[in-house]
Amino acid sequence: MSLTGDFRDATRVRVLLSAIAREAEPVAAHLGRPLQLMEVCGGHTHAIFRFGLHQLLPDTIEFIHGPGCPVCVLPVEAVDQAVSLARREGVILASFGDPLRVPGSRGSLLQARAEGAEVKVLYSPYDALALAKGNPHKQVVFFAIGFDTTMPSIACSLLAADRAGIGNLRFLCHHIRLLPTLNGLLEAGDIRLDGFVGPGHVSMVIGSRVYQPIASHYHKPLVIAGFEPVDFLQALYQLVLQLAQGRCAIENAYGRVVAEAGNPAALKAIDQVFESGVDSHWRGLGTVPGSGVRLRARYRHLDAAALLDPDAPTEAVAEPAYCNAVLTGRIKPHQCPLFRRHCTPEHPVGALMVSSEGACAAYYQYRLAAAPEEPGSDQ
Ligand code: SF4
Repeated sequence: MSLTGDFRDATRVRVLLSAIAREAEPVAAHLGRPLQLMEVCGGHTHAIFRFGLHQLLPDTIEFIHGPGCPVCVLPVEAVDQAVSLARREGVILASFGDPLRVPGSRGSLLQARAEGAEVKVLYSPYDALALAKGNPHKQVVFFAIGFDTTMPSIACSLLAADRAGIGNLRFLCHHIRLLPTLNGLLEAGDIRLDGFVGPGHVSMVIGSRVYQPIASHYHKPLVIAGFEPVDFLQALYQLVLQLAQGRCAIENAYGRVVAEAGNPAALKAIDQVFESGVDSHWRGLGTVPGSGVRLRARYRHLDAAALLDPDAPTEAVAEPAYCNAVLTGRIKPHQCPLFRRHCTPEHPVGALMVSSEGACAAYYQYRLAAAPEEPGSDQ
């Protein structure tokens, strides 16, 4: 198969669509409702809309858009920490592009930059090393976010900074690990879910084997998917087939990228730098046991959290309730009354409209031409 052409082949797509419809129909009839399947990853949400798969799939399939967009779950407190560091004299705050637009309680990093703070967008955390070396009289802080996918590059950059003895570079880390987050969703028990389309990128790092408890303990099937139409529909077919046959297993439909054991070098770097199992609070999800990380004691001298004022008053911030409902699959983005009227990618009210992977941004981008839907309507 070519890199994209065959994975977008119309004949293959048609065959898979018809197989999905055939297998889903009796299951949905038995349940008396559509199959409710969570695509965990924001990249999949975009693939569904970008390729128009939601219009091609039968009504017996309903997607619940999962929490797999790290910008969307970034808590207000984390943004506030980054903004307060950015506003300090002598600090250069660097990060990837999307976190700069996430609203905190006292504005975003972009607003801080407009007011004079030195905030830079970097394409790689490694660039922070050069930034620090080029600005020896400044304190450089890299605001690091992301799921298991971005953790290896942050870990390797941090190790490189440590080896090089760069004294004016620190990392403000707000990483979230996927497996505890899925466990937290399943433990909450108030979302009706029949199965998961597993994420492609995170699984490339953590592998497919680690999902086993989702099938054995929570009795939910999960199939890992890629991002091209044939990739995604193949995974969806396998998922629906499991439900039709009354099976519950972890399967990998993205074998050209995801190995059973993941990427051992990436996992080793994560483990070397980060301590996992920290209970952490996330936007829309609340406190999720074991979902966060902290730097290991050996690397605490590189932790930018130590620069924060421990006596600074923390403001209780109410996150938009609609974002929470979307993140946990209780409503669809267009059912939020703020969608498109008050919340747009240019002026996001919630983080789900900020990131290119956010569910609200996907609905906005790919449903823009449609007439405004009434809150409560679907499709
Ligand atoms: S439209 Fe905006 S406020 Fe509403 S759920 Fe989406 S991001 Fe949150």
